[in-house]
Amino acid sequence: MDLHLAGRGYLVTGASSGVGLATARALLAEGASVAACARDPERLRERLADAAPEERMFLASADVRDAEQMRAFTDGAARAFGRLDGVVANAGRSLMAALDETGDDQLREEFDLKLFGVLNTVRPALEWLELSTGASIVVVNAILARQPESRLAATSAARAALLNLTRTMATDYGPRGVRVNSVALGLVDTGQWRRRYEDSGTELSYEDWCADLAADRGIPLGRLGTAEEVAHPVVSLLSPRASYVTGATVDVGGGIARYV
Ligand code: NDP
Repeated sequence: MDLHLAGRGYLVTGASSGVGLATARALLAEGASVAACARDPERLRERLADAAPEERMFLASADVRDAEQMRAFTDGAARAFGRLDGVVANAGRSLMAALDETGDDQLREEFDLKLFGVLNTVRPALEWLELSTGASIVVVNAILARQPESRLAATSAARAALLNLTRTMATDYGPRGVRVNSVALGLVDTGQWRRRYEDSGTELSYEDWCADLAADRGIPLGRLGTAEEVAHPVVSLLSPRASYVTGATVDVGGGIARYV
């Protein structure tokens, strides 16, 4: 099925690794233009260098927590492509700590990254998205938003607030022709888990460590997901084919969610 993405322009944050990188590559493979940011511009260029002709990419260093950097990045992208049709608010990480181990500054940082990181991404893009036919925003969130985990206390709370805010965006931006949806992740094999494996000091191979992790968390599909398995639903939600889907949350967690 043609997703009607060719010739359109999309902005992806956190595109040098994991879900953001797989999503940027999937959009480029569909013939779209992609504006991608991360804090480390060298890694971003390295990872996307071979993905598409230069004129279909706008790569820049920008921190989603910085509103001015995000406005400059968005304006640069929109000028380069002459349009913006969608946004993937993906950049982030999680804080593995129980509530009693989490300082107030860390709690504030989590809310800053999760809430303002998304607001700083979406706000400057809106004026461009309103000019598009079939504009779509996808916010990458976590199943933790609805199923909190004590070992990720601050991240779970910030994710819940983000899910709520994203639902409000769908209500407010729908009349302006912009759809807004969430993708809620379970455990996905990306840089985040690779870093945790390296910090763990385990003697297990990475594959065995991931298999144990999946068993410990009771994932019905018995494994972690891949970044590509997230990119496909994200790209589907960005497509004008999904023209009546807004305010939805799509779980991509191999069945880890226990709610119905
Ligand atoms: P990775 O660590 O693989 O990639 C994170 C990307 O975000 C990198 O490109 C990184 O580049 C960029 N980034 C991090 N912080 C910022 C920032 N402040 N401003 C701009 N870019 C930033 O992560 P994942 O692909 O695993 O995660 C993607 C999203 O999915 C995140 O929001 C994460 O919290 C969420 N998620 C992931 C889960 C998983 O199991 N993997 C589970 C649930 C949610 P750089 O460091 O150069 O900035």
